Amino acid sequence: MNKHNIYQTGTINSLLEAVYAGDTSMEQMLQHGDFGLGALDNIDGELIIHEGICYRADATGKLHILDKDIHTPFAVVNKFIPEQKFTVKDLDFKSLEAVVAEHFISSNLIYAIRVTGKFQHLDLRSEHCTCRPYKRLTEILPNLQTTFIASNVSGVMVGVWFPKYMAQLNVPGFHFHFIDDLRRLGGHVFGFQLEEATIELQVLHGFQLALIENQDFYQADLNIQNESAVASVEQVRT
Ligand SMILES: [Zn+2]
Repeated sequence: MNKHNIYQTGTINSLLEAVYAGDTSMEQMLQHGDFGLGALDNIDGELIIHEGICYRADATGKLHILDKDIHTPFAVVNKFIPEQKFTVKDLDFKSLEAVVAEHFISSNLIYAIRVTGKFQHLDLRSEHCTCRPYKRLTEILPNLQTTFIASNVSGVMVGVWFPKYMAQLNVPGFHFHFIDDLRRLGGHVFGFQLEEATIELQVLHGFQLALIENQDFYQADLNIQNESAVASVEQVRT
């Protein structure tokens, strides 16, 4: 049987430890799939890959289609082939997590999740870019980060779920990036209230990790206790 894989460049710890220059371009990412999310070089906005198109949400939330030669220091992508599909109504982030997790066959695998629907509001985040000399993400993100609310909007949340035992490599639990139907607005999702949505789910039995080929990555200390740092940069709106 052909296993469905997810491809990743960089690690959450390398991103936390200021490896903001990657060696993988959008063109290379798209060779591994059509659905994904991540960061961009110099933390210049949020990356969303949907239906084979790479979008950047800038610091105002505005979407741009990325050139093929733009690089990422941390991102995942897979060929999205949903295996389960169901509809939901009137959920916030926490209740959606619970409903989706009921459909998981095991909490030891990785999942790709697409949520297409109408949202009363979404609490989104993006960033201004940073320059060398790079500082740790927890130090600079409060100054780079912008947050904004999208109200009464239809669109797609591109998502992944990683198990806790992989927490040194990727964000454990759910991670969603949003793009609206008009492809004008997007960002990292901190929270939402959805009206109705279709959820599609794919189980991923394989994980391909591409470690970054540059001095930033070689010299970063990746053996860090990252739990509170991950929570502060990815899961809690500050
Ligand atoms: Zn994110």
